[in-house]
Amino acid sequence: MKCEDETPKPHFVLVPFMAQGHTIPMIDMAHLLAKHGAMVTFITTPANATRIESTIDRARELNLPIHFVPLKLDCAKVGLPEGCENVDKVLGKEQVKSLMDAYSMLHKPLVSYLRAQNNPPSSIVSDLCQPWTGDVARELGIPRFMFNGFCAFSSLCRYIIHQEKVFENVADDNEPIILPGFPHCLEISKARSPGNFNSPGFEQFSEKILEEERRADGVVTNSFYELEPLYHEVYQKKIGKKVWSLGPMFLGNTEMSAIAVRGDKASVDPKHCLQWLESMKPGSVLYVSFGSMARTVVSQLKEIALGLEASRRPFLWVIKSDDEASDIEKLLTEGFERVRDRGLIIRGWAQQAMILSHPSLGGFMTHCGWNSTIEGISNGVPMITWPHCAEQFLNEKLIVDILKVGVPVGVQNITSRTMEAHEVSIVKRDHIEKAVLKLMDEDTDAMERRMRARELKQKARQAIDGGSSYSNIQQLIEYVKTRK
Ligand code: UDP
Repeated sequence: MKCEDETPKPHFVLVPFMAQGHTIPMIDMAHLLAKHGAMVTFITTPANATRIESTIDRARELNLPIHFVPLKLDCAKVGLPEGCENVDKVLGKEQVKSLMDAYSMLHKPLVSYLRAQNNPPSSIVSDLCQPWTGDVARELGIPRFMFNGFCAFSSLCRYIIHQEKVFENVADDNEPIILPGFPHCLEISKARSPGNFNSPGFEQFSEKILEEERRADGVVTNSFYELEPLYHEVYQKKIGKKVWSLGPMFLGNTEMSAIAVRGDKASVDPKHCLQWLESMKPGSVLYVSFGSMARTVVSQLKEIALGLEASRRPFLWVIKSDDEASDIEKLLTEGFERVRDRGLIIRGWAQQAMILSHPSLGGFMTHCGWNSTIEGISNGVPMITWPHCAEQFLNEKLIVDILKVGVPVGVQNITSRTMEAHEVSIVKRDHIEKAVLKLMDEDTDAMERRMRARELKQKARQAIDGGSSYSNIQQLIEYVKTRK
């Protein structure tokens, strides 16, 4: 592929981690880089490529120079069932470990594929969880940038926790510890910190991530400078390398058709969803969704249903649950009659970015995954924070205490992906009702929260529309060109 002046386009190879919350922002990144004049090779696997078929078709229709390349994952070799190619398909730590091993075996096929290209790659941008790509970049003699799906605030916390071995001699997982070297006083406990790969069996993998983070040519994030300048500066200084904040990357999708097809196939017709949103008053609807991974048990669904009913506010609720379909059906048919005029329930995958951008939206009950958080922020939607695991408790602190655009529902305990019916973790209906009323209220606190959310929306859009993220993308492409 050639630019108009016949010089080859800088060629970025993107290697995501195969989980929707990691893949989706990298697809957005591919769109941004392509729109800024780069060529992109996007590495995927056959089963994952099928799931993002509509996205691939859209990129093709838009004539973007993005090539989706499915490399075969050898599941059998690591003892995984065929087609088990995404983190949301594996169960338990052993399988996650096997999946990591299977990815790292893509080293050779990836090098062979890239060596055979007419326009040789200029750089690799790969997920933090794909550390083997550091060796690939060195073999090809090109820079590797690490995509870190966290914001700068949580990245800084994570870095300090590992570097300073903050929890090494702490016996109580719930004891709050002050983070040394953080720019202000911040307390976190081990139980509420990002520690997915700290558990036994993952030591080597975790070490490799840290080593490749040290060796990377820079870090790419889906945040924007003006959102968290202090944490960005300190994080950059601590790791001693450039942090390229390119976000909010999903704002690079300006066509509604591309926005509506992010991730899995939606369970609801976008027209139906939009019609329903149109029928609601501006700023009145609460959107409830816990991302792509979390599964909610029936006992928790029941509390949410009753909390939403008691709040008397319109809601659009996305349900993902592994529990018996008949139990969920029973719960919803019994309870739903009472809220039929003001509730829409989507079971499965929703077009989140499209929904959040609708003028009827007034609030977002979120699990605080970073993508959901930045999508809420960029749409000026205040949030009810309901962290489940990973770095979500840190993101909650950023949303509630620092940006002051959120209200906590009051989660005390970390929940596993499937929540495993930890009764202690169940958030009760009255907490949910209280949080909804507080967020959607008309009092001074709620109005000020809304105003701050609107200001952040402006800043987010400015960043991508000619501002800091725009120039970071340009500079990144330029940097790669000159390194070539
Ligand atoms: N998402 C979506 N529809 C859904 C669930 C999730 O479009 O029904 C998207 C959401 O917009 C976000 C991503 O999936 O871009 C989820 O990432 P996040 O970091 O919020 O959470 P995770 O899924 O990684 O826990």
